[in-house]
Amino acid sequence: MDTSRRNLLFGRKPQVPPEPRPPWASSNFIDRCTRCGDCVSVCPTQIIKVGDAGFPTVDFSHGECTFCGDCTSACTPKALEQSTDTPWALQASITDRCLALHGVECRICGEACDERAIHFQLAIGKVAQPQLITEQCTGCGACLAPCPSNSIHILELMA
Ligand code: SF4
Ligand code: SF4
Ligand code: SF4
Repeated sequence: MDTSRRNLLFGRKPQVPPEPRPPWASSNFIDRCTRCGDCVSVCPTQIIKVGDAGFPTVDFSHGECTFCGDCTSACTPKALEQSTDTPWALQASITDRCLALHGVECRICGEACDERAIHFQLAIGKVAQPQLITEQCTGCGACLAPCPSNSIHILELMA
C-alpha cells in the first residue's frame, strides 16, 4: 500500500519535511512574513526562492549562504531579524551515495567547505572517508552543489 493511501486510511498527515527558511527567521515567521519577496530579490547568491504558499525558502542547488545579512536588512516586517548569533538550525548530512564510501577517491566537499567541517579520515585498504564535524558546520550549503554524486543534504536539526 502506498504511503499516501495508508496515511489517508489511518488519518495521519503525510510527513512532509518543512521548507527551510532564510537565515535568522523569527519564531513567528509565518505571522510576520508578508511574502513581499524583498529577501528573494536582494540575496547576492540567489539561494532564496519563493516556496510553498509564496513564503521564501532556501535552495542550495546553485549557491550557498555567506551570512551577509542582506535578506534580514531588506525585511521590513522583521520576519527575518538578525537577533541571535545562530542563523538557523541547518546542517550538512553525507548520504551513502558518497563516492568515497564506494571506493572512489573524492574530496570535493571538503575542499568547498571554508569552515573545514568535513575531514577525510585515512583508512587501511580504503580511500579516505569523509567525516562531518558537526560543531563546525554552519549549514551554509557550499558543499552541496559541487558534490558529483548529489550525496550532500542540508537538513533542519530537530529541536
Ligand atoms: S544571509 Fe546573504 S547569502 Fe544568506 S540567504 Fe541572506 S542574503 Fe542570501
Ligand atoms: S523580506 Fe521578509 S516579509 Fe518579505 S518575503 Fe522576505 S521574509 Fe517575507
Ligand atoms: S554546509 Fe557549509 S559548513 Fe557545513 S559541511 Fe557543508 S560547506 Fe561545510
